[in-house]
Amino acid sequence: MPADYHTHTPLCRHAGGAPEAFVDAAIAAGLTEYGISDHAPQRPEPFDDWRMSEAELPEYFEWIARARAHAAGRIPIRAGLECDWLDGGEPWIADLASRHDWDYLIGSVHYLGDWDFDNPKWLGRWAESDVEAVWTHYWQTYARMAESGLFDILGHPDLVKKFSFRPQGDLARFYEPAIDAIAAGGCAIELNTAGWHKPCAEAYPAPGFLELACSAGVPLVISSDSHAPQEVGRDFTKAIALAKAAGYRETQLFEKHRRRGEPLA
Ligand SMILES: [Zn+2]
Ligand SMILES: [Zn+2]
Repeated sequence: MPADYHTHTPLCRHAGGAPEAFVDAAIAAGLTEYGISDHAPQRPEPFDDWRMSEAELPEYFEWIARARAHAAGRIPIRAGLECDWLDGGEPWIADLASRHDWDYLIGSVHYLGDWDFDNPKWLGRWAESDVEAVWTHYWQTYARMAESGLFDILGHPDLVKKFSFRPQGDLARFYEPAIDAIAAGGCAIELNTAGWHKPCAEAYPAPGFLELACSAGVPLVISSDSHAPQEVGRDFTKAIALAKAAGYRETQLFEKHRRRGEPLA
């Protein structure tokens, strides 16, 4: 099984489980590596209620150390963060990058302006939004994140579909410019299995996006986005089949920001 690099810890206030339980789940799932990438702190604090605070970073490092101690060489434990891409936020990402000897950083778009559009508390706001305009805003933001060069992996590419608000017509008009930016930026994207368990009932990204990304030579990782031990490596068999159908023959491993391919089993 590929590595699972997008996983959370209780420090983000909406995940549960001890590091030992996550590691045991990763080993039981037969994963190549287990990477921890909790929601990064964000200034100004308090920013929202779904992330660790800056003061909790040492506790996060301790959590990762506990996972490594429990793994005791049975599975590599990688250290990462899921960072929020916000307009003008580049200096803060660079600051976070210097706080630890990270194996990788994931960049994610959860915010459009002040709106964390993937938060279920905003379903009402979605219902009164111009979906075409929200999607346009989202993909332009995602392309800027890809071009920033600050991340090793780009998270859940089409998260904007989470609640199944989708524009009419062929969505390739949104995908193509974003994939050009991703290919130019040179980072990997993730095939995130959590989408199968959301209202959109489809992994992130959609199969059409994945095919275009593969054709453009964009590297891939497979991620669960687990917020509990039982979600580690969830649906990876299904995800491998989807990645292969899109043309992928390998996924990526990261160590100290260095990437190497691993054949898809
Ligand atoms: Zn989360
Ligand atoms: Zn995310």
